[in-house]
Amino acid sequence: MAFPCPTCKNPLGLTLEFIIKNPLCVCPHCKTSFNFTVNEDIIKIYKQTMSEIEKIKRQYKGTVKFS
Ligand SMILES: [Zn+2]
Repeated sequence: MAFPCPTCKNPLGLTLEFIIKNPLCVCPHCKTSFNFTVNEDIIKIYKQTMSEIEKIKRQYKGTVKFS
């Protein structure tokens, strides 16, 4: 999941993981600073999703390649 800059619409190349770890960041294109304060629910959903993905990866280990 990637987010475009709300100001200049350029892709920021940020993932939800990055935002959770770095809620304060600056757009490399227009230098607008953002405060992506992520609420607890989103973090919970994100962690759940990541553990599901890990589970699936383990299940298909050796048969499917995940990049
Ligand atoms: Zn921007």
